[in-house]
Amino acid sequence: MFAADVQNVPQEAFTGYLPTKDRVDDLVAQAHQRYAGHTDGTVADYIPILAEANPNWFGLALVGINGSTHLAGDVDVHFSIQSISKAFVFALVCESIGHEAVHERIGVNNTGLAFNSVIAVELNNGSPMNSMVNAGAIATTAMMPGDTAEEQWGAVRSGLSRFAGRQLEIDDGVYLSEMRTNKRNRSIAGLLDSYGRLEKDPLETVDVYTRQCALSVTARDLAVMGATLADGGVNPVTGERVVSADVARDTLSLLASCGMYEKSGEWLFEIGLPAKSGVTGGIISISPGKGALATFSPPLDSAGNSVRGQRACAFLSRALGLNLFASSAHVSHQDGSLTHS
Ligand code: GLU
Repeated sequence: MFAADVQNVPQEAFTGYLPTKDRVDDLVAQAHQRYAGHTDGTVADYIPILAEANPNWFGLALVGINGSTHLAGDVDVHFSIQSISKAFVFALVCESIGHEAVHERIGVNNTGLAFNSVIAVELNNGSPMNSMVNAGAIATTAMMPGDTAEEQWGAVRSGLSRFAGRQLEIDDGVYLSEMRTNKRNRSIAGLLDSYGRLEKDPLETVDVYTRQCALSVTARDLAVMGATLADGGVNPVTGERVVSADVARDTLSLLASCGMYEKSGEWLFEIGLPAKSGVTGGIISISPGKGALATFSPPLDSAGNSVRGQRACAFLSRALGLNLFASSAHVSHQDGSLTHS
């Protein structure tokens, strides 16, 4: 839309920095202590095996753009990435087909409806709407590079592994449990196909999408993946460029409007960061140019967002000065320079 018009204008960015290492360590530890005792929320069970998660698990991992790592609690517990994968598959597809094509073929507006809504597709004349709801995510997975489902799955796995900086493995138990019960996703794929909005076979695409959601990660992995988006597309631990800076920026703008299910507006109002959550209880919140916070705690609210995770993000966004919309009044100095109060 506007991107073609400004594509030769250099993208400038200045976002400030995280506080000192000791200060970040201290605040991450404080966040863990503050919310570890909270017991609100319910562990997801619509995919049967997910109900086995321990509701007391609570991990916080923050990775800065220089690779600095700040950890508290259960940061090495493995869980399936679920919906958080949608953010990274979106980035990989954007990298492969470009900003304009993603905008036109999927869309970037929130549905205001549940993540697995069928009616959202009907109400929008077959449009998948955005890559963070299941319809859009399935349509996006179908656009991954590769001629066969197997090649596309290989591209998903290797792409997400480059974001994480290590080879990610599939949790077969989660994959099989979801494949036995994912009738709704199969219906969504069939519906998209009926509108001519799916570029590959619907059942094969749902299979790749379900494998994508079953990739096993830790909070520490998610923080590195998020920090790659915060660092203009370069993994701050491996130094590898995974996607372009423009794709990292586009991914974060989509997360800001669509990343937190139908509570994305409330999230932006309360926390002020692009973020993505998943039904296993993970949330990544990205502060562009600074780093990413990953939280993991399985009990969810009614929209499917981790309760402890949201609270910890709200605390850290404020205490670390991450909220994109926060500013403090300036002070003008005699020499004409400006600082913030
Ligand atoms: N695999 C899950 C589904 O498609 C992901 C849901 C989520 O994390 O929101 O239903």
